[in-house]
Amino acid sequence: MAAGHGSYSFKVVMLGEGCVGKTSVILRYCENKFYSKHITTLQASFFTKKLNISGTRVNLSIWDTAGQERFHALGPIYYRESNGAVLLYDITDEDSFQKIKLWVKELRRILGNEVCLCIVGNKTDLDKDRNVSAEEAERYAETVGAQHFQTSAKLNTGISELFLSLCRRMMDVAVADERSRTDSSLHKGQSRRTLNIVDAEPGEPTATSSSCCSSG
Ligand code: GDP
Ligand code: MG
Repeated sequence: MAAGHGSYSFKVVMLGEGCVGKTSVILRYCENKFYSKHITTLQASFFTKKLNISGTRVNLSIWDTAGQERFHALGPIYYRESNGAVLLYDITDEDSFQKIKLWVKELRRILGNEVCLCIVGNKTDLDKDRNVSAEEAERYAETVGAQHFQTSAKLNTGISELFLSLCRRMMDVAVADERSRTDSSLHKGQSRRTLNIVDAEPGEPTATSSSCCSSG
C-alpha cells in the first residue's frame, strides 16, 4: 500500500450495474473524455491517475469491469486487496441503487471495515428523470459507513471531488494501519527505552492538512 515515504499506491474498484456509467466516470476522470455511446470494455482493465494531495504523492489504479458487472459474475479476485470502492448507480434507475446494497454487503464481508466505500449517483444531468432521491441515498450511505456523492460524467461534475475525498480517506486508513503495525511490533520486541526513541522520530505524513491538492 505505502510506496516509500510520502507516497501511496491505492487500488480502487468501480462497481455497479451495466450502463450506470462506470467506464464513463473513469474515462472522464483519467482522460477527460466522454462518449455518448456505451463503451464495451473487453477485459478487466485499469486506469491510473497520479495526484498530489497536500504534498503527498498518490498513485491511483482504478479498475473497471469487463461487462461482468452483474452481481456475483465477478469473482473476489477482482476486488481483493482494494483500498477503496466506488459503487455507482444511475439516479434515474432505482434498481441500480438497490443493487449497490448487495455490493456493500459483499465488500464488507470480504474486505472488512478497512475498505473505503463511496456510493455515487451518476447522471445528475438527467435530474428531470430522477428516481432515487439524494436524501435516501445519503441516509443509506451513512448507515454503512460510506460517503455519498453525485456526479455527471457527461458534464464533468463531482468526479474529481469524489476521488479526492476517497483518496484522503484511504490515506487516513493507511496512516492508522502503519501506526498500529509500528505499535504492535514495538510492544512485541523492544524495550521501553527503544520505544521512547522511536516515538521521538518524525511521524508519517498525515492527510489532515487543510491545504488542497492539485490533481495531475
Ligand atoms: P458502464 O456499463 O457502467 O460502464 O456504463 P458506460 O460508461 O458505458 O455508460 C453507459 C451509457 O450511459 C453511455 O451511453 C454513456 O454515454 C451514458 N452516460 C454515462 N455517464 C453519463 C452521465 O453522467 N450522463 C448521461 N446523460 N449519460 C451518461
Ligand atoms: Mg463499462
